[in-house]
Parts: sequence; structure tokens; C-alpha cells
Amino acid sequence: MSRTVKRAFKYRFYPSTEQAAELARTFGCVRLVYNMALRARTEAWTLRQERANYNATSALLTGWKKTEELAFLNEVSCVPLQQALRHLQTAFTNFWAKRAGYPSFKSRKRSRRSAEYTTSAFRFRDGQLRLAKMSAPLDIVWSRPLPAGASPSTVTVSQDAAGRWFVSLLCEDVIEPGSAPGMGSVGIDAGLDSLLTLSTGEKIVNPRHERVDRQRLARAQRNLARKEKGSANRAKARLKVARVHARIGDRRRDHLHKLSTRLVRENQTLVIEDLTVRNMVQNRSLARAISDAGWRQFRTMLEYKADWYGRNLVVVDRWFPSSKLCSTCGALADRMPLNTRSWTCRCGTVHDRDLNAARNILAEGLSVAACGAGVRPQRESSRTGRSAVKQETPGATQGIPFLQRGEDVNCTMFTMTMATSASPRSASSSEMRRPAGAPAR
Ligand SMILES: [Zn+2]
Repeated sequence: MSRTVKRAFKYRFYPSTEQAAELARTFGCVRLVYNMALRARTEAWTLRQERANYNATSALLTGWKKTEELAFLNEVSCVPLQQALRHLQTAFTNFWAKRAGYPSFKSRKRSRRSAEYTTSAFRFRDGQLRLAKMSAPLDIVWSRPLPAGASPSTVTVSQDAAGRWFVSLLCEDVIEPGSAPGMGSVGIDAGLDSLLTLSTGEKIVNPRHERVDRQRLARAQRNLARKEKGSANRAKARLKVARVHARIGDRRRDHLHKLSTRLVRENQTLVIEDLTVRNMVQNRSLARAISDAGWRQFRTMLEYKADWYGRNLVVVDRWFPSSKLCSTCGALADRMPLNTRSWTCRCGTVHDRDLNAARNILAEGLSVAACGAGVRPQRESSRTGRSAVKQETPGATQGIPFLQRGEDVNCTMFTMTMATSASPRSASSSEMRRPAGAPAR
């Protein structure tokens, strides 16, 4: 049977001068409304112990628009402003559910500039998109086709730090069952030498251009550091750094998309390890490799694509000793420093470290899936930060497994971070900053 899913299609577009001005104004108003509503909600709670909800902030917005000093809010479309209040509501819901920290103010310089339009605020007809308060359609580069007959339910316009404009259209798409015929199962180990190692023996390396990109970034950043604060040349240099960052991000995302799509198409069951990226990044020597590998990004892609194609994504507990276990006889090695790339078990098997780990991850995942614990929507489990595998009682395991993992990576760094990282929730907080809703890419 075919499946209907919500899917975002993102394109670049080139606004006219008037459109760019209108959008910049809208972004500013969105940010202002969000921040004012956040302040109002914080005050309502701290001063009067009231929980202001969406409706209350919506009423506030109506009031603000009537005042003289905020009358300019009427100049932009009201829908993005309402949507900003809804986003704030989501941020609070996540905070109350302990999935995220307290909502923070949007910054003019650091926050993403974006505005969200719902059906009443745009018109999509004959391949032309017109936004509210704009007469001309957006000049979109249709780099790939929308699904046949698609009508977007939400349109998000954004501008990145490199000054590029994007429009993202949320559409319904039909996934045909035949489009992903693979029935295999695979264990995936996040490596450092190679980006990923599969239980099939395949090693996926980091893209070759990465080193060049990194040098280019270092040069651009050195150049920026030499420029005088507030000068025009500094602004130019900053834009250059942003462009290099954007390029690195684009290339990485592209690589991970191709990889995740392929793996999801080929396999019915995918098993990954629940790595605590944030904790590992604190180790300086590994920081670059891990954050560059974009493990978190990759996992998110696997999660939603597995969901689209009806695949099982099993997440193995982060304390599972995947590297130290012999995949042939099941013996547990005493220690396994990170620089050990291959080792010989007592049973005589010579192991490639990463391949052995990938095989163990697969075996563990399949046994979990067989008892039924692993087969559940992984989007949910990753949000709560819990893995599919049952964790032992925290009191018994919190200290010990950490030291095991510490051996794997770097003892001193990990003992220092033990207190914070023992919390099961710490894994997912970076993900929480992502706005709820369909994946944008
Ligand atoms: Zn063995």
C-alpha cells in the first residue's frame, strides 16, 4: 500500500528589491513579536504565577497593533506573526515536557531569519507562488519538481547567514511501496577514520573535499580576525566566512542525504548506536571529526526516512560495549583504547575494530527487535532521549559503564564530564532547538 507523508521541498529564490525589503521587514516584525510575547509570558509567570497560553499572546498582539508605536506591525502580513506565537507555544510545550530548555529571545544577528505563511497568506497557482502583501510572484529556481498536483499547506521563507534566500514548501507526497524494495538489515557504526562502517563490511569515508573546505574556512576566519571592528571590510570578511560555512554545510547535508536514502531503501531494519554527541564533542581531539561527521544530522535523516518507507530503526543503548565484544564468540575484551584499529580475540578471530562494532550493533538490534522493544517509532524515542533498549537501574549503572566508555575515548575528559552526562536527557537537547514539524530538508 502507498503512504502519504508530509514533505518539505526547499528551493532558492531571488527576490526583487521591494520583495527583499518586505521580507526583511517581516523577519524583523516576527522577531519582535516573538520576543515581546516571550517577555510577556515570562512576566505573567514570575510576577503573577499565570501560565499565559497562545490565545492570551494572540490577544496581546491585537492590542500591540493598535498602539501608535507598534502600528508598523500592520504593514506586514499578520500570518507570520501569528505563526511566531505558535512557535513560541511549541517552545513552551517542549520546555514543560522537559524536552528543551526555557525559550530564549531571538537575536537580530544570530537567529535564523524566517517567516512562515499558511494557506490564507499565499497563493500557489500554475507553478507561481505569491505571498501576502506582494504583487509579483517569487522568482523561484525549481531545482527539482514538486510532487504532481501538490498544493503546499505551509510556505516558509528564510535567509541564511550567507545572504541566500530560500523558500520551503510543505506538501503531501505519496511514497509508493515499490520505491524501496530492500529487505536487508544493517548495523551502522559511527567511526572516526571512516565516517560510517556497515556490518556488511562496507566503509563509508568522509568526503574528500572536506579538508580543502576546512583550510578555506581557516583562511577566511583569519582574514576576518584582522579586520577592524565595525568597518565595511569586516562586514565583507564576515560574509565570506558565512559563505564558506554554508558551502561546508551544503556539501555535508548532500552527502548524508544520499547516504541515508540509500541505506533506508536497501534495508528493512537499520540498527544504530545511541551516541551522546554533545559529550564526545567536549573531547578536543575528537571534536572536529565527530561534529563534522554530522552524526546527529544523519540520525535525524534516518529517523524520518525510515518512518516514510515503513522501516524499523533500532537504537541500541549507548552503554552497549559494541567495540569490546567479540562478534564471533561473544567474549568481552578488557580494554579497547581508541587507537586500537584491529585486535585478536582469545578465540583467534582477528577483528577490524569498526566492522566488529557494526556487527555487534546489528546483532544486538535484531535481538531487541525480536523481543519487540525496538520496534517503535524512533522519532518519539529520540525526542525523549531514551533508547529502544531497556536501561538498567540508573543507580547500578551510572558510574560503571561510563568508565568503560571512558576507556574507549579518553578517560580524563570523561571523568570531568561525568556529572552532566549521566543524565539520560542530555543526549537530545541539541535536537530540541529544532522547531517542531516536518523536517525542512
Ligand atoms: Zn572471540
